[in-house]
Formats: sequence, C-alpha cells, structure tokens
Amino acid sequence: MLLGVMLCLSCRQALPARTEYVLGTFCTVNLYEKGTKDLYDDIFGLLRELEEILSANKDTSNIASINAASGKSPVKAHPDTLAVLKRALRYAEISGGKFDPSVGPLVKAWNIGTEYASIPEPEELTRVLSLVNHKDILIDEAAGTVFLTQEGMRLDLGAIAKGYAADQIINLLDERKVERAIIDLGGNVYARGEKAPGLPWKVGIRNPETGTSGAIIALKVKNKTIVTSGINERYFEKDGTHYHHILDPATGYPAQSGLLSVTIISDSSIDADALSTTCFILGAERGLSLVKSIPGTDALFITTDRKIIMTDGLAGLVEILDSTFTL
Ligand code: FAD
Ligand code: MG
Repeated sequence: MLLGVMLCLSCRQALPARTEYVLGTFCTVNLYEKGTKDLYDDIFGLLRELEEILSANKDTSNIASINAASGKSPVKAHPDTLAVLKRALRYAEISGGKFDPSVGPLVKAWNIGTEYASIPEPEELTRVLSLVNHKDILIDEAAGTVFLTQEGMRLDLGAIAKGYAADQIINLLDERKVERAIIDLGGNVYARGEKAPGLPWKVGIRNPETGTSGAIIALKVKNKTIVTSGINERYFEKDGTHYHHILDPATGYPAQSGLLSVTIISDSSIDADALSTTCFILGAERGLSLVKSIPGTDALFITTDRKIIMTDGLAGLVEILDSTFTL
C-alpha cells in the first residue's frame, strides 16, 4: 500500500521542461504543475499534428495539397487550415497586403533559412510577385474548400501558424487545469499564470541586432502571449548586407521599415503572431496605430537606431537591461 502511494506520488511529480524540434524550430514546454509525461506527450503530439496539416514544407500537408492544385481546382481544407487562413486574410486586409499568406513563391525565391538562400534575379522577383496576392485566395465556406486561382501560387502560414499552435496548447492547458506554465514555440512565448503568488513572470527580449540569447529587455507578464518578429530569426549576409526573412510584397525584398524587432503582448497568440510580422513590415508609426486600435494588445518596437517605442499599457512592466537601448 505504502509503495503504491509512493509510486503514485512520484508519477504525479512535475517533470522538467521538454524541448523538441517541431514547426521548423525548437519548441520548449515547461509545465510547473501537472507536468506528467502524458501531458507533455499530448502537447508535442498536438504540435506535430498541426505541422502535418499546416506545413508549407511537407508534401503531404493540407497546405501542400492546396498549393499543388493552384490554378486548377479547389481543395478540401482542414478546419485548422481554414481557421488560420481566415485570420491571415483579415491581417492581409488590415495591412493592405503587406501581410500576405500567399507569400510562398517569394519565400521560396529567397530560400532564407536554408543553405540555398540567395538574392533572386529581378526577372524571378517580377515573376513570383505576380503570384503573391491574397485576393486570389478563394475560400468557399459552404464547401469547406480553398482555391488559389493562379497556377504557381503557394500559401505560407509561417508568420501566423505558430501563434495558432500556441492557442491550441492554451486550450489544452485550460482543459487540464494547468495554471503555471511557459510555452516557447521558437520565440512565440506564452507565460501562463504567475511565477509565484503576486510575482509576475519575466520574459526576456533578445538583442535583435545579434540574436544572441542574453536578454536586453525584461517584460513582466502574467497570463500573456509574447511574440517577437525580428531581423535575426532567419537571415543571410551577402557583400556586407543583411537579408532577413520578413519580406515586403511591395518590393519583393526584406522589409526595411527602420525596425530591428517588434514584440506583441496579447491574450491571443494567433493575433500576436500575425501582428508582430505585420507591424514589422508597416514600421513603428503605422504599426503603433494599428496596435492601439486593437483592445488588450500592447507592442514594443526596437528601431534600427536602438530606440525603444512602446504602448502605454507596458508602462512599469519593462526593464531595460542593456543601456545602449533607450526609450
Ligand atoms: P514571423 O515574423 O512570425 O514570420 C516570418 C515568416 O513568415 C517568414 O519566414 C515567411 O515564412 C513568412 N513571411 C515572410 N514575409 C511575409 C509576409 N509579408 N506576409 C506573411 N508571411 C510572411 N521551417 C523550416 O525550416 N522547415 C520546416 O519544415 C518548417 N515547417 C514549419 C511548419 C509550420 C506549421 C510552421 C508554422 C513553421 C514551419 N517552419 C519551418 C518555420 C517557418 O518557416 C518560419 O521560419 C517561422 O514560422 C517564422 O516564424 P518567426 O516567428 O521567426 O517569424
Ligand atoms: Mg509572426
């Protein structure tokens, strides 16, 4: 009997954080309570399932099927595909096409983040840019299908799907009544609950110039998602120029908006993910006014001249750890 109780206690003990490579990045889940092997397995299982559906890189994904049928026929869309795509199209509308889930051909032309990264030839850029247009994505709600009207179009949900995945984990943690956890899906962070009663979590923002792991800013948060888009997540250098992976469909080139990074703090991770990318392309001024129009959302911009610009909601929650970055 005693052994039974002891075994039971040990099997309920929270396990340490788990990191796995999924969604094309290292994802770390740290459950500070109820962290059983089963729950960790369920969370990473969920991430792998979403990758199978939403990946632009896997030939067998729902996204790949939609892309393969571009210009030919509508394809039955998985409910997760529809949910993410519909939200992505909302941000495409809001941003006047700066955020565009049909950016796939442009992403492939640059190949940033792979060993084949290179600057596309001007003719190639002209060709692929003619395929990037969110208005050519047709959703038939009744039939549950997606049709890309031009042959060669490609969806790429890399700027928003990690946020959706984080929200699905949040739902799972709600179901299992886990009140303290940190989820980090390759820079897409969700801090659940508090570190200790009355003590918020502190989430670090890395130096966006170097991408090195030491934090330059600490953000005090409780039950919030914190998502950063910046110039150092994926990039390559050629002849002294830095080419990063957030592409401006107006130019075909990496967005040059005077920013090094944008961090969004929100309750919804899908919105934070879409917004961090959108605001990065829009720049500080337009990005700030967009964020201010969305209740419950805050933002912190770091400019190329190392200035920190943030929304009023962050007053008192930001600690600058590197004094070369100033307000
Ligand atoms: P964010 O700012 O959130 O997004 C930048 C990414 O969005 C770019 O990398 C590009 O993919 C896309 N993008 C660029 N410009 C625009 C624009 N104007 N509008 C909209 N989107 C834009 N990586 C791999 O290397 N291999 C994989 O197999 C792989 N599989 C993945 C599967 C899934 C389901 C997801 C969600 C991601 C996967 N990734 C993979 C990673 C992905 O390619 C991106 O690198 C990552 O999602 C970028 O996230 P971020 O937070 O750094 O940047
Ligand atoms: Mg994003």
